[in-house]
Amino acid sequence: MACACAGNPYRSSNKIYRRQAKDFARQLSTLPGVDSLQPAAYSAGTTNFSLRKPNFVVIHHTAQNSCEQTLKTFTTPQTQVSAHYVICKDGTIHHMLNDYLRAWHGGAAKWGSSTDINSNSIGIEIDNNGYETFTDAQINSLLRLLAVLKKQYSIPAANFIGHADIAPGRKVDPNRNFPWQQLATNGFGLWYDTTSTQLPDNFNAMQALRIIGYNIQDSASAVYSFKLHFIQTDSSKMITDADKKILFDLMNKYQ
Ligand SMILES: [Zn+2]
Repeated sequence: MACACAGNPYRSSNKIYRRQAKDFARQLSTLPGVDSLQPAAYSAGTTNFSLRKPNFVVIHHTAQNSCEQTLKTFTTPQTQVSAHYVICKDGTIHHMLNDYLRAWHGGAAKWGSSTDINSNSIGIEIDNNGYETFTDAQINSLLRLLAVLKKQYSIPAANFIGHADIAPGRKVDPNRNFPWQQLATNGFGLWYDTTSTQLPDNFNAMQALRIIGYNIQDSASAVYSFKLHFIQTDSSKMITDADKKILFDLMNKYQ
């Protein structure tokens, strides 16, 4: 009988996936209680629960040369990296990991007070060598995918962010060709309008960056990441008066 799996180059890694998922399922189905600090005489598992949901979406570029190369990377145990979704140049979406499981895409990262982004986010990698523009097919697929995720997990518009946003100084993806404004127009991320913005005298740009979510420990890197997302024509680490207005407007929207 013909099998849809015939010729699938990822048969052996799919086998590993199923085995690992089964292990987790087994762990989850064990009644808790016996492992508690002061065990009770009997187990009393609650009847009222569901799976934890992702609350952020983090967008990346792969910095690799092809979708195939990225699939290889994410199915090779030694690399220790993965994402839930990979979007190829022709718009094909590879869903590599169940949304409820934790992918290894964020690394050392911080957004607001959240320091374990991998645990509360979905990672989406877009095939791009790091410098290219993104294809229309990729953006169309991304927008359709984001709409599904936003609805399914009730993800707030503000929680669609980039890898560079959560790892200033360490990551620069997605690159400055990424259409953040178009995403915000579609309800994924927020955007600014400074036409009637009045800047207060005591405005503090660094505090505004922190309120938006940036880790400002390295202030120059925080500014760089901010510009990569919101002022893509400027690759400096300086804050101008026009930038301050943008920051003030965004601060009020993100807080
Ligand atoms: Zn990344």
